[in-house]
Formats: sequence, structure tokens, C-alpha cells
Amino acid sequence: MASRGESELDRKIVEAFKVRRLKITPQRIAIVKALNRMDHPTAEEIYEEVKKEQPYISLATVYRTLKLLINAGLVKELCLPDGVIRYDTNINPHINVVCVNCGRIFDVDIDHYVETFMDEIGKAVSGKGFRVVGFRFDVDVYCENCSIKNKQFESDSAFADEDI
Ligand SMILES: [Zn+2]
Ligand SMILES: [Zn+2]
Repeated sequence: MASRGESELDRKIVEAFKVRRLKITPQRIAIVKALNRMDHPTAEEIYEEVKKEQPYISLATVYRTLKLLINAGLVKELCLPDGVIRYDTNINPHINVVCVNCGRIFDVDIDHYVETFMDEIGKAVSGKGFRVVGFRFDVDVYCENCSIKNKQFESDSAFADEDI
């Protein structure tokens, strides 16, 4: 029943595991596939999703696997201002744009200029004797959906004023 896209993804995951000498288990594969389907999920959200396929999986296994995937460079951990830790399979340099209203996270690719800028920051920090292990660069926004809702709200209240 698996579509071609899905078996392609399976193949890629197995390949990525092999290259990193990680043991391939159905639970691990299910976790990576869930991560790919989902949009910056939390560990609990991943757990709920994977449980549909792997009913005997535990939350501890999900956490352990996430740690393993992070160490292997396949997943990035995001800690956003709401204090919730989310996981990102987009390991290319990108900016996480966070909607302050609905909490959705959007990936925005960065151009070469920004990458150079981040390199410079990295150099400045490592120059102070620190070992840089990652960057976090988030931008707070109102997403398209929430901006429209806000506008509607504003015009609704304007109408209400006229009615009175
Ligand atoms: Zn929003
Ligand atoms: Zn992201």
C-alpha cells in the first residue's frame, strides 16, 4: 500500500541510519517518518503519532531515539520562547519563523549572505574559547492566517461601533 514517495523516504532513512552506523529498528524508522510528516512536533506529539503504528512504544523510547537522532545530526532540537521543546528534521541552515498568536513554526531558507553572517558570529564566539554546537535564530511574527483574523476582528469591531 506504500506509495512510491513513501518507499523512497524509507530508503533514505535506512541509508542515513547505515551511514551513521545506527541500529535500524521499526520503532526508530516510525519515529523518523512521523517527524517527516509533522510540522515541528513536540516529543509527546511524536509519541502520539507513532503509537498509531507502534502501539507498544514508550515515551522514553521516543526521547531516547530523538537524542540519538540529534547526536547523529538528523534532527535539530528547538527551544522556543514558549519553553516547549520541538523537533525539526530540516537540518539545513534556516530561520524558524514563529507565529506569536497560533504558535505555528515556518521554515524560511536563508541566503548566502545570512549564512556568512552566522559564520562570523560563530567565529566571534569560538574566538572566546567556546565550542559552537548550534545556532538558534527565530523570528516572531503574526502568520498570514492570524493577521487576517486580526484584521477581521478590527473591522468587525469597527462595524459594531457604527451600528451603535
Ligand atoms: Zn498564526
Ligand atoms: Zn524549522
